[in-house]
Amino acid sequence: MPPVELRRVRDPLANVPTPQPRGTVADSFALLDPARTAVITGAGVSTDSGIPDYRSPGSPPRSPMTGQAFRASDANRQLYWARAYVGWERYQLFRPNSIHRDLAALIPGPVITQNVDGLHSEAGSRSVVELHGSLHRVICLSCGRVYTRGWTQLALAELNPGFLATANVTPIDVETNPDGDVELAKVDGFRVPNCPACGGLLKPDVVYFGESVRPEVASAAEHAIEDADAVLVLGSSLAVHSALRLVRQAVRAGTPAVIVTDGPTRADDLATVRVVDRVAPYVTAWRHAVT
Ligand SMILES: [Zn+2]
Repeated sequence: MPPVELRRVRDPLANVPTPQPRGTVADSFALLDPARTAVITGAGVSTDSGIPDYRSPGSPPRSPMTGQAFRASDANRQLYWARAYVGWERYQLFRPNSIHRDLAALIPGPVITQNVDGLHSEAGSRSVVELHGSLHRVICLSCGRVYTRGWTQLALAELNPGFLATANVTPIDVETNPDGDVELAKVDGFRVPNCPACGGLLKPDVVYFGESVRPEVASAAEHAIEDADAVLVLGSSLAVHSALRLVRQAVRAGTPAVIVTDGPTRADDLATVRVVDRVAPYVTAWRHAVT
């Protein structure tokens, strides 16, 4: 398998109309045995927790930093970490919602997620495949050691004692981006910690745009799809290749795919059942239907 690069076409669904439903909710429940279903979740699952979605109606266009830009210069890393330092104060307060809790109760197998917020694990899901990593971990680009984001936040605070006052921001009031950072005009003088073990560069353990999903993670997701009798996509427009390819893999193997979002996705033509609705009431209804 070639590396799965995280790619996204700019607004590929901008002019796509709201899809037509295919089949009924009851049809979808008939296909979904919780013990045999692979679930793929996207940003639409965490919006109920307060984390914004890149694709929500009215959300401003954003250009997340690419992995290439992060590695390219001290100035870019300073900008990234200053934004992340301020953004984390609010981001760390986001909690799982009913979708995370219902899935944790329903699904014994892996939940494959595009989200980097860690909320499936926090809700109690025992097996989570984090396609794009987690903002709760920070990795050294030289030696590969992994640190918690909490430790990193303390290190950032120690290095930048007056930053919040100088930047004139109250973190809790600042609008957080889906990546957990905020827009900041001035990052002059912000200091970035290096790996305590080897002095290497520290980077959030997430897949940036232009980077590849880790081979072992991509492989775990493929196996989960292989083993499943049905695939359920929740709250993802499948605009990034890493999740879209999993749905294509399932459909090629003859595995039924159920897609639940209230907007268009890139796999609407592949869905066995297409539910056009919000995710939370759907998952709650599923839980009631099987318990
Ligand atoms: Zn290191």
